[in-house]
Amino acid sequence: MPRPKHYDIVIIGGGVQGLSLAYNLALRETGKIAVFDKSYIGSGASGRNGEMIRSAFGSEEWIRLFDTSLRLWETLSAELDFNVMFTRCGYLVLASTPEDLAACRTNCKRQNAMGLKTRMLNAGEVAELIPSLNPQATVGGVFQKEGGVARHDAVVWAYARAARRLGVEIFPYTEIVAVNVDTAKITGVRTIRENVLTGIVVNAAGAFAGQVAEMAGVKLLLDVYRLEMIVTEPLKPFLQVALSSPHFLAYMHQTARGEFAGGAEPQNLSPYLGLKNTRHAVQDMARKFGSLFPGLRGAKLMRQWAGIVAKSPDRGPLLGAVDGLEGFFLNAGWGGYGFMGSPAGGRLMAELITDGQVPDALYPFNPDRFATGQAIVEPTIIGAAEDKG
Ligand SMILES: Cc1cc2nc3c(=O)[nH]c(=O)nc-3n(C[C@H](O)[C@H](O)[C@H](O)COP(=O)(O)OP(=O)(O)OC[C@H]3O[C@@H](n4cnc5c(N)ncnc54)[C@H](O)[C@@H]3O)c2cc1C
Repeated sequence: MPRPKHYDIVIIGGGVQGLSLAYNLALRETGKIAVFDKSYIGSGASGRNGEMIRSAFGSEEWIRLFDTSLRLWETLSAELDFNVMFTRCGYLVLASTPEDLAACRTNCKRQNAMGLKTRMLNAGEVAELIPSLNPQATVGGVFQKEGGVARHDAVVWAYARAARRLGVEIFPYTEIVAVNVDTAKITGVRTIRENVLTGIVVNAAGAFAGQVAEMAGVKLLLDVYRLEMIVTEPLKPFLQVALSSPHFLAYMHQTARGEFAGGAEPQNLSPYLGLKNTRHAVQDMARKFGSLFPGLRGAKLMRQWAGIVAKSPDRGPLLGAVDGLEGFFLNAGWGGYGFMGSPAGGRLMAELITDGQVPDALYPFNPDRFATGQAIVEPTIIGAAEDKG
């Protein structure tokens, strides 16, 4: 019998969060690190997302975490020695009603008070920025010049390559089927073929984080949702910024090749753990994108796809140690924001695991917050309108 492999840290999930964490842990020389993914790396939501990046949120907690991330995005290509195609094209949160506009104003005040260079735009200024946008759908918005987009595949490969260079071992197509626990301590994980010894397991399993936690006897408050996107044929440039619309529960940008790429959540989205596209979602997106950009009507659809994400009750990620189970950490529940949050997620979780101190920006996202009545209220997220019913 060969001796079981041993690692100082095992990360379950080779998405952008697991890989960013692996890279950041390796930078800190934390010993032998392994990442296991049941499929190819980036096969989860990390290779299926809208690629949009901002830190212009409405709550102090989200602004602090995601602005830490945005600062890291600015130098990520150089740091990882791989062009992740981060483009600071600007990010507009569109207001389509006076209520939206009032919310943007409140959020913008908080953003500015926390040092973000966001600014309010009136309807005329939005029209100047995006002339193709339907004026009927616009009363203004809040604009973050430093926001933008990056290529999701490139980011996954960049983190994986940089982590491997630092000695991290990555095992694609290797599902973790059990998390081994002895007297409230992590002792290892099991793949279909073998036992792996470790004292530290990080659950970065994306939509499957709830299932992985159950393997360790931990129940997480996470629901899984399917999000869908479409991409059109290449079109002449008409949308130079990343754009999200809380009113339409939609987000979109135009790629360097000219394709319009966007996603939207239908009202009253129900939890669902499947990757099949639906006609209902495509129709919803066609209606919404056609309302926002009348010039898009009749454009040919090139591709559509779905991805699944886990959302916590307050839609914020669960980041930190699990109380009562030594060596078990969560980097999960990122919902629709884990791509933009990946540089900070990996950096801050690595600090927490190696120093044993919870970084300030991470503290509000501790997994215990629901039990202690400290859920975060973040008003700007796509889906918040739907949650209010
Ligand atoms: C349509 C869509 C649009 C989005 N748009 C944006 C956006 O514009 N901006 C943004 O910031 N975010 C966006 N998101 C959200 C973002 O993609 C996710 O929050 C992020 O990718 C989460 O990364 P992750 O590494 O935690 O999870 P994932 O990328 O899902 O990775 C988890 C990995 O764990 C693996 N795994 C699961 N179970 C096991 C197991 N038992 N053993 C081994 N491996 C396992 C899976 O195979 C998977 O590869 C969007 C998501 C979708 C679906």
